[in-house]
Amino acid sequence: MKRRLSIKLRVTLFYTAILAVILSLVLGFVFLALDLRLVYSSKANLEEAVKGAFDDIDFRGGQLEIDSRIDLYHDGITLVLYGPAGTLLLGSTPAGFPVETPLIADTHQNVEGGGRQWQVYDMYVGYGETGVWARGIYSLSTSDSVINFVTVISAVCFPLVLLLSALGGYLITKRAFRPVERITQAANRISSGSDLSARLPDGGKDEIAHLAQAFNAMLDRLEDSFEREKQFTSDASHELRTPIAVILSEADYALSQNDAQEALHAMRAIQAQGNKMATLVAQLLELTRADNHTLHLEMERVDLTTLCEAVAEELEGQARARGITIRCALEPDIVLTGDQTLLTRMLINLVSNAVAYGKEQGEATIRLTREQGDIVLCVEDNGIGIAPEHLERIFDRFYRVDPSRSAGQNGSAGLGLSMVQWIAQAHNATINVKSELGKGSVFEVRFPQK
Ligand code: ADP
Repeated sequence: MKRRLSIKLRVTLFYTAILAVILSLVLGFVFLALDLRLVYSSKANLEEAVKGAFDDIDFRGGQLEIDSRIDLYHDGITLVLYGPAGTLLLGSTPAGFPVETPLIADTHQNVEGGGRQWQVYDMYVGYGETGVWARGIYSLSTSDSVINFVTVISAVCFPLVLLLSALGGYLITKRAFRPVERITQAANRISSGSDLSARLPDGGKDEIAHLAQAFNAMLDRLEDSFEREKQFTSDASHELRTPIAVILSEADYALSQNDAQEALHAMRAIQAQGNKMATLVAQLLELTRADNHTLHLEMERVDLTTLCEAVAEELEGQARARGITIRCALEPDIVLTGDQTLLTRMLINLVSNAVAYGKEQGEATIRLTREQGDIVLCVEDNGIGIAPEHLERIFDRFYRVDPSRSAGQNGSAGLGLSMVQWIAQAHNATINVKSELGKGSVFEVRFPQK
């Protein structure tokens, strides 16, 4: 696998490269400006020197007179005077200068000679029949030496500035990444120690602190779901242990019996426990599928009114056994989009709870109405009710207010309401319960219809 550089190094390299480009551009610009400036000022000086030479030249009575104080070498500029035909009158060209350079009036020339660059400016002033050429010669090596000096300075400073800024930048980036390293170490400690209760350091208000806070929130949820998972597994094993123990002991008993009646009795007990386990395993499977999102909803138009009537009819026998009457107060033709099987399961769970925990000789009522456009399903009973401290926990898996009672009653294990809650959520419905101890309970499922 291609090994990538650390972010610290990449950031450092990136901005060092950008700095190098910017510095190069700036230096290039400085060199260009300097060069232009030097050339421009040397041309101006040259012109001035050549013109100045004529201050010391005069013609008196047709006779050429040159002031003896004429300065033929000034500020790096050499002055040479020629006659009209180009014959040398005064001065000498510097060593290496190509003497054959033509005399061209009022024009700047650049010539090469003796391995150097020369700037030349000529001027002619005529006096009647005759005249004088003044030539100014300037060696560009004087300007070059300035540029060379700047070049040497830049060549030393450029890498030095880059190196220092890369180093400084790396240290700043490293410092900025220190909290990330602390988070990495803490995360490693958490994963290697499998201690889900540990948290990352998340003090501060910067981006890294926000990241750590987000991770901590995720760890909270993970810890919570691991805890629930653990609890679920332990509860499930616990629930299965009892029927298995009963089955084993009944089987032992049946095998040790010569009496066929006794053996038959034991077999029935085994069958009852087997059924209980089958129900429990089916419920567990369904909840696991719901958790894993593998329980697919078959959405269709469901006539809820008819469904309530069918469930009331199905549970009539169970209700009669406790002397309970199931009443239906249903608005006709209430239809919604939902999964018929799951909605049936929800109704059965709610109504069978109303029967199981209802008052003997009492009533269980299924109400179906429309309220402000919502479809509202209520299952009421006038039974034992639920104490406030249990109310918010009854939807938890395996939670039973009185385990001996519900397990003894219908073999259920406290999973019915968690399934009801899941089905409600899967239909975007909300579920609420109102209950008073000794008076009864109302479970209300509200299906919003947009
Ligand atoms: P169970 O299999 O025990 O009925 P549920 O999840 O359906 O499991 O219900 C959880 C607990 O809520 C029950 O054990 C019971 O204590 C309480 N409960 C549910 N419905 C009612 C009700 N209609 N009246 C009183 N208590 C109820």
